[in-house]
Amino acid sequence: MGRSTEVLTPPPSEGTLEFLCSGCGACCVWAGRLKDMPQNPQTGACIHLTSDMKCSIYDTRPDICRIDKMYEINSGSIDGIEMSRKEFYKLNTMACHRMIDEEGMDERWKIKIGDYDKE
Ligand code: SF4
Ligand code: SF4
Repeated sequence: MGRSTEVLTPPPSEGTLEFLCSGCGACCVWAGRLKDMPQNPQTGACIHLTSDMKCSIYDTRPDICRIDKMYEINSGSIDGIEMSRKEFYKLNTMACHRMIDEEGMDERWKIKIGDYDKE
């Protein structure tokens, strides 16, 4: 979730399989609508999202912004349904696609679901 200083570079992960992130920032725009995230009153996005769509606190961003960590916090399940790390990442990438669509961003930001099967 969010961007580091490099575009189109996946963030580091604790597991052997990495969550693939294009760095589009759509989730950071969307996160501003969550009650537990601080909102930039001017943009409506997370207050930590910079004008060039990067995370200003990337190294210390909260767990909810770390898909790898969220898999571990949820003990590998969503709503009681157990799933592999790969399945969890694929579901999250599908959510990325929806947010990219909602924000009207270019299709090029969408990670291909099939890329997880190349690992
Ligand atoms: S919406 Fe997905 S691809 Fe885009 S920055 Fe967030 S986690 Fe990365
Ligand atoms: S803290 Fe950073 S990664 Fe998390 S939503 Fe805000 S800008 Fe995005």
